[in-house]
Order: sequence, then structure tokens, then C-alpha cells
Amino acid sequence: MIRTVLGDIDRSRLGMTLAHEHFIIDLDRIRKDGISRIDTPEEVIPEIRLMMEDGIQSAFEVSTIDLGRDVEKLRTISQATGLQIVASTGYYLSPFHPAELESQTPEEIARIYEKELLEGIGDTGIRAGLIAEIASSPEAFVGQEKKILVAAGIASRRTGAAVSTHTGRLTAHETIQILLDQGMDPDKIILGHQDLIDDHEYHLSLLEHGVNIAFDTCGKSAYMPDEIRARNVLSLIREGYGDHLVLSNDISRRTYFTSAGGPGYVAVMRIVVPLLRQQGATEEELRKLLVDNPARIVDNDWRQVSCS
Ligand SMILES: [Zn+2]
Repeated sequence: MIRTVLGDIDRSRLGMTLAHEHFIIDLDRIRKDGISRIDTPEEVIPEIRLMMEDGIQSAFEVSTIDLGRDVEKLRTISQATGLQIVASTGYYLSPFHPAELESQTPEEIARIYEKELLEGIGDTGIRAGLIAEIASSPEAFVGQEKKILVAAGIASRRTGAAVSTHTGRLTAHETIQILLDQGMDPDKIILGHQDLIDDHEYHLSLLEHGVNIAFDTCGKSAYMPDEIRARNVLSLIREGYGDHLVLSNDISRRTYFTSAGGPGYVAVMRIVVPLLRQQGATEEELRKLLVDNPARIVDNDWRQVSCS
């Protein structure tokens, strides 16, 4: 079963899925640029309806506890649009962390994740279906970043929940090692933002461990041209890794909305998927990226687990 904000659904019902999105988010709390936030269902729903016109049925909403996550608003969005949303538990980059993380042990943090996955978030009755997006700083693990990752590995081993990350090149191998050291199933790991690194050999060195990697900044052409994203996806498919790739847009502020002239939540379907088709990807290969892989990774026998 897959755990959404409206309850558990059968894996076969997930359909076309974006694996790393934000619908309600507050990065502005730390960035203070006045634009890095999405506050209301009303402003994001028209953008979500656009992506659903292209066939998207589900999304993993990876906003963390410390990124302004609001699962009641996610429930409102899901009810209004019909989009199936998997919400997350977890912590983001060090500057966003609440002070109490400093004195907590990995075990104590794992219990926070488990409570949100198994019992519910606060008293909303809404449960997280994923541990995400667990972040590390670009150069190295900073502050409590290693601890929140160890905790994710512990909670995943005990609950079967998947772990999705915010990871750069310099912490990627260590991230995999830390999670596997906790006894995690590598197929429950999604390393995020790997499309920002244009290096086929590097991607292979990650995938060798049996993990999944996300090409999740589709449409952000200032960071990486979508032609290169598509080319790298296709090279990995041709190497036999089509079962371990997922796609998304990672829209994290309203200035990325199509209504503001940005790429919006539609870049995967309107830019990258057409490029993949042009470059020779088959419908079956696209179906793996958009349907089969996301469903397999977050599918879990939730009835078998209870809070420790
Ligand atoms: Zn993100």
C-alpha cells in the first residue's frame, strides 16, 4: 500500500507520479528573499491542475517538518484536485533545523519520524508516507545533518518507509553508506537532485549500490539544460538502470509557477518527456520512470508495522 494524505491506496492506483515536489513550503524563513514560499492551496491549485492535464495523478510532497510543511493544506489540495499526495517526515538543511535536534539522539529522531509515519502528524490524523527530503550541505555534512540521516536509516529499517534526500556530489557516496549501514534496503533510497551533476560515470557509481536517483529539477534550465538531463537519463536507461530513475520538477517558490512565467510543475511532461521520446525512449521505458519506479519505491506493507 501507498500512504497518501487521504489514506492508504493500492500501489496499482498511484499512476503517473512526480517524485519530488513542494506544494506548501517556506524556505523564506531562512533565505529571507521574500519569494521562497508557497503558502496557500488557492495559489498552487491552478498550477497543479495544469500538470494533471498532462496525465500526472500523484506526487511525493517532500517538504520537511522545518520547511513549513502543512499536511492539512495538502489534504485540502488533494481533495480539491484529486491529486494523490504522499506527504513526508524529515528535516532539511542545517540552517533550518530546530534547536532541539542538537541534543536529540538518532534514536529519538527516528521515533519522531516513526510517529509521523505510523500514527500521524501532530493531531491531524494524517500520516507521512515517506521520509524526505533529508538534506546535506553541498561541501559536507554540517551541524546535525548526519544525525537526521542516520535516524532516517533507522526509521526506514523498522517501518519499511522510503528515504528521499537532497544531496550533492560531495556527500552522495557517504549518504548511501550511512543509510546502508543502518540496514536499509537500497531500493528504498532516492538520492535527490542528481540531474544537477552532468557526469555519467558518477551516476553509475551511485546506481551500482542498488539505489534510485532522481532527475528532479526538470525545467530549471539555468542550473542544467533539459537536453543534457534527457541525454543523461537515456544513457542510464541504455546501461540497464531504467528501473532506478525517477523524475520531478522541485518547484519551491511561486516565482517558478507558470503564472509567473516559470517552468511550473509541467516541465517534466512538456519538456523532458518529449525530449526523451525524441532521443528514442520507448513508452515502456517512460512508464517505468513515471509510474512503476515511484510506486515500487514507496510501496510498503504498512499494516505490519507499529510504533516502537
Ligand atoms: Zn526539494
